[in-house]
Amino acid sequence: MVAELNINPIKEWLPHINNPLLIAGPCSLETEEQVLSTAKLLAADHRVFIYRGGVWKPRTRPGSFEGVGSIGLKWLQMVKQETGLLVGTEVANAQHTEEALNAGIDVLWIGARSTASPFVVQEIADVLKGTNAIVMVKNPVNPDVQLWVGALERVNQAGIKNLVAIHRGFTPFSDTPYRNYPNWKTVIELKRVLPNLPIICDPSHIAGKRELLYEISQKAFDMGMDGLMIESHIDPSCALSDKEQQLKPEDLRKLLDRLVIRHENADNPGFENQLDLLRSRIDALDKELLEVLSSRVEIVKEIGRYKKENNVTALQINRWAQLMDNRVKMGKEMNLNETFTKILFQLIHEDSVRMQTEIMDE
Ligand code: PEP
Ligand code: MN
Repeated sequence: MVAELNINPIKEWLPHINNPLLIAGPCSLETEEQVLSTAKLLAADHRVFIYRGGVWKPRTRPGSFEGVGSIGLKWLQMVKQETGLLVGTEVANAQHTEEALNAGIDVLWIGARSTASPFVVQEIADVLKGTNAIVMVKNPVNPDVQLWVGALERVNQAGIKNLVAIHRGFTPFSDTPYRNYPNWKTVIELKRVLPNLPIICDPSHIAGKRELLYEISQKAFDMGMDGLMIESHIDPSCALSDKEQQLKPEDLRKLLDRLVIRHENADNPGFENQLDLLRSRIDALDKELLEVLSSRVEIVKEIGRYKKENNVTALQINRWAQLMDNRVKMGKEMNLNETFTKILFQLIHEDSVRMQTEIMDE
């Protein structure tokens, strides 16, 4: 599936942008003093274009800090006036959206929990109709690209063309060092389905802790993502939410200094020639790979026919276990990643068994 969205490129609503789109600010707005002091330090770094801050906070469990509410919108107006930064906050229902629009908030984002609910997204989209707000849609908490695309479509169908997707990771299903598992393949899939949609990364909610922010942010640029939304607090040690993952503005500056920003194409003319050369070698190797797989299929079928004649099952679990062990060992000796070899041979074997059972059922 490829979806059609009618989208303005970032340059149209942020003409002076000359770098990746960088959004920074605290997880939650807490006090006027915290909001303004953080904003002033962030604005001094000209790589930051948008100031973020949660006014209404979605909390997994009741009883945690649920945001300062509407007063926060006033503080965002002050930030805009005093620093010239655009300002943004999360909206999670029609009333938030109305209030934020009335307060002149430039960027409204839909949080991960809301994206997972089409009713909530539609309610927000209905209020957005007829405005030229900038709207960002975080991925849903579960790795369902269709649900993410559906939310973007609902907002786009309300006439919102200044649209951006935010990748903030997914609820982990097993042990991982991340608070929210990045599952990068969903970003690749979103890019495939919506090629003209800008996508930025929120390393803060993926990481859950400061130590992982650099690695995730660099990976986002390596993958050609269009920017970052990073949480920054004047003093993370006393933040009322997400204190482990927020950076002081000075530490954000240091992190940005270390990041290498990559471009889709190089200025160096020799680069394209060299890349073409390497790619033609990859093309030739891929052809060989497919030829080898096709020869393998022929033998698999021959074995299938032979097993059928002798009334032997298609799946022979001992042979399968030995084969897997041996291939993983060989792969390791050839410097292949263990998980990769395992998944590859699982697929190959699954398809061999499928072909052999088909032969037996003929
Ligand atoms: C946030 O950005 O503050 C937030 C709550 O994020 P998410 O919706 O990604 O959990
Ligand atoms: Mn947060």
